[in-house]
Amino acid sequence: VVEIGQPEHSVVTTCAYCGVGCSFKAEMRGEELVRMVPYKDGKANHGHSCVKGRFAWGYATHQDRITRPMIRAKISDPWREVSWDEAISHVASEFRRIQATYGKGSIGGITSSRCTNEETFLVQKLVRAAFGNNNVDTCARVCHSPTGYGLSQTFGTSAGTQDFDSVEQADVILLIGANPTDGHPVFGSRMKKRLREGAKLIVIDPRRIDLVRTPHVEAAYHLPLRPGTNVAMLTALAHVIVTEHLYDEAFVRERCDLDAFTLWAEFAAAERNSPEALAATTGVDPQLVRAAARLYAKGGNAAIYYGLGVTEHSQGTTAVMALANLAMATGNIGRVGVGVNPLRGQNNVQGSCDMGSFPHEFSGYRHVSTPEVRQAFEVDWGVSLDAEPGLRIPNMLDAAVDGTFKGLYIQGEDIAQSDPDIKHVTAGLAAMECVVVQDLFLNETAQFAHVFLPGSTFLEKNGTFTNAERRIQLVRKVMTPKNGYEDWEVTQLIAKALGYDMNYAHPSEIMDEIARLTPSFAGVSFDLLERQGSVQWPCNEKAPEGTPVMHVGGFVRGQGRFFVTEYVATDEKTGPRFPLLLTTGRILSQYNVGAQTRRTANTAWHEEDLLEIHPHDAEQRGINDGAWVKVASRAGETSLRAKVTDRVAPGVVYTTFHHPMTLANIVTTDYSDWATNCPEYKVTAVQVSPSNGP
Ligand code: SF4
Repeated sequence: VVEIGQPEHSVVTTCAYCGVGCSFKAEMRGEELVRMVPYKDGKANHGHSCVKGRFAWGYATHQDRITRPMIRAKISDPWREVSWDEAISHVASEFRRIQATYGKGSIGGITSSRCTNEETFLVQKLVRAAFGNNNVDTCARVCHSPTGYGLSQTFGTSAGTQDFDSVEQADVILLIGANPTDGHPVFGSRMKKRLREGAKLIVIDPRRIDLVRTPHVEAAYHLPLRPGTNVAMLTALAHVIVTEHLYDEAFVRERCDLDAFTLWAEFAAAERNSPEALAATTGVDPQLVRAAARLYAKGGNAAIYYGLGVTEHSQGTTAVMALANLAMATGNIGRVGVGVNPLRGQNNVQGSCDMGSFPHEFSGYRHVSTPEVRQAFEVDWGVSLDAEPGLRIPNMLDAAVDGTFKGLYIQGEDIAQSDPDIKHVTAGLAAMECVVVQDLFLNETAQFAHVFLPGSTFLEKNGTFTNAERRIQLVRKVMTPKNGYEDWEVTQLIAKALGYDMNYAHPSEIMDEIARLTPSFAGVSFDLLERQGSVQWPCNEKAPEGTPVMHVGGFVRGQGRFFVTEYVATDEKTGPRFPLLLTTGRILSQYNVGAQTRRTANTAWHEEDLLEIHPHDAEQRGINDGAWVKVASRAGETSLRAKVTDRVAPGVVYTTFHHPMTLANIVTTDYSDWATNCPEYKVTAVQVSPSNGP
């Protein structure tokens, strides 16, 4: 029972969980947060929220919070609490020692999509300006990096094309690799409302997600493809659209690169790409595929929404390009009700990508090797910058195992639980000489840290998040940081100890710098956000009030560019030892690795990760509903309870990755997307057998 007193004042801020970006009023009594109330004027949520967001404040005051910095010489030593001064100067002297011994490129930084834009911008600035290299990456690497690359190549911008309101004018929704009623609940409800009003739904997903059949909503088509075959499925849809002349010839002629279209159309039309020819690969009835293609192409405004079930594959980028191809071919882009819309998992995935936290790009997706771009940053920051792209997260870990990468600053990310092939991750961390973790709790990664810097929660800081519709919203400080500092201040202290003074007094000054250096943010300021409530980038001279729908009248890159999307099977194969395919997802009440949600009041339910297995596969193995099972792959094994259900097809098993006891990612492999290294979380060959529990 939570006793609720009378609040004295309230502060409007933004939820720090998923990419919907709901606005809340934090109702306060002094420094005590009484409750979070969904904010009716919130542009992303219009007064709605989900159970995660409402209870999010619980983790901010949880007893597990670490509020004092700690250091230790070896990871086997006990932690020693120290002052902030001692911790920061220890970090600086260790990083300088490592660079003097092993070279400038032997250290790096990882920022998080949980952090604000300003914090993320500062981490990449720390790495580039104070470390003197480009070894910076973000956890968006492991989720939506294929979106960034795929959409920039086809449309010219690494972002979703629509605002959330646009769904209200969609006649057809093509939902692939996403489960919005669990993963993005407030937007999922808006989608459901539109479906109840009569919009038609196509679901492409190995699992029968709730939206396939739920009260008052039934998908027109569910294409339950085999995990790992998205590109084959999207090519089969393209085949029907091309060979049945369902494409929008006028749109293609006017808006797209015709040579690229012709190449793509010839490829798609090939008989080997027909739904019939690809049925053995996808496992889906070709007649269903044909019907779905006709509906998408000719059903009116057709909008694509997708999630990590598209990106977290060895062909993640190819699948994003294939979705863009479909939208361009049918003219479903550049107006309200259509588009290609990635549903971002974390609150600031879009922002962390926008802020230049990839090793090859400055903010606004400009390559570090472009002289005039680099020069603008050099002049502003007063340093010379490296023109060579740095290391991505997996490359940092590989280099650590090889002995050439020795120091890492990790802000707000738990790579020892969330990244794939955890044995390799922990081997890399264990091989380093100075791992600095800045976080709220002693997470799994902190087990390998030499320095722990306590982080601040979203309730203890000022800044901005950018949600899945490119909407930049203010995060307002509602209570004093328990650790004494906001996260951006800690980064600034490290930079200063390394001899590079950043000298910001408030995150609004960081945003002013972002605006000065980033054309798509040129018009963004905290003043504008206070006045307008939020703004969707691009926001600049051409669009002073922001841009709800992109590519209206023309693509950002000029002509839309089609890409041939040849299906290449993943190297992760099933066989006699590992005959089942494991895929992963989320549940409504938990958020990612559960570090926050497990410490809030909404964890009364669904505490465990469960393994969904088809009755046929369960019976073959003597597995009963609720029994413990062992899941083994080439990478590792774990134990969890079985849920026997026909939500998954025979041959497919499914679990979530919320609980550290399960460590689902111990079984996922190190295969990754060909273009971006985004891990192939969604396809792992496994064997499942009865067990006695962990
Ligand atoms: Fe909104 Fe997502 Fe937060 Fe739920 S978790 S309240 S849907 S932002």
